[in-house]
Amino acid sequence: MCRKETMAEDKLETYKRKRDFNKTSEPGDESVEFDWADEGPIFVIQKHDATNLHYDFRIEAGGVLLSWAVPKGPSTDPSVKRLAVPTEDHPLGYADFEGVIPEGEYGGGTIMVWDRGTYRNQNEADEESYEPPTIEEQYEDGHITIWLAGEKLQGGYALIRTGGGKKPRWLLIKMDDEGADARRNPTSTEPDSVKTRRSLEAIREDAEKG
Ligand code: MN
Repeated sequence: MCRKETMAEDKLETYKRKRDFNKTSEPGDESVEFDWADEGPIFVIQKHDATNLHYDFRIEAGGVLLSWAVPKGPSTDPSVKRLAVPTEDHPLGYADFEGVIPEGEYGGGTIMVWDRGTYRNQNEADEESYEPPTIEEQYEDGHITIWLAGEKLQGGYALIRTGGGKKPRWLLIKMDDEGADARRNPTSTEPDSVKTRRSLEAIREDAEKG
């Protein structure tokens, strides 16, 4: 399926402005197909060993990947709230990006595809009597509920904006369903890439070999 949408180009202005595509191997906004996703919008969680290690949580909506940086990564424990700082929209092709961004460039460091899959708008599942808000509308409202079908993460997650101003903070929270497990700690026990099964170190070494 071709997922390119012309509307995406304006949304990616910030993404492009922050990057020098002569120096970084990160994708532009070329059209992409995902052989790992059947139907429905995709999500990806990228482990990013930059100045501070964090996890970039991205969900497809409106032709781009809405993105948040989650310092501690997602939890499977519904009692845990993880800080999620919104970042610029990324192109859909970013979901396949794994590699090394050169030091000194924006986001310099190693990036791994830590988890990926499809998701559905949880409001669509819960409400039949009215027109459910789209993910973009939920983003505007600061309250998104989605159901992830990933390799590591499954089930409902909520993203909730707290406070306003120029630097809004969001929280990423596991919903209490069959995908919840307070004892699981996938960021520790399942550290490697779902795309290539490599560790961060292996990704770095492979990049050095060229
Ligand atoms: Mn990042």
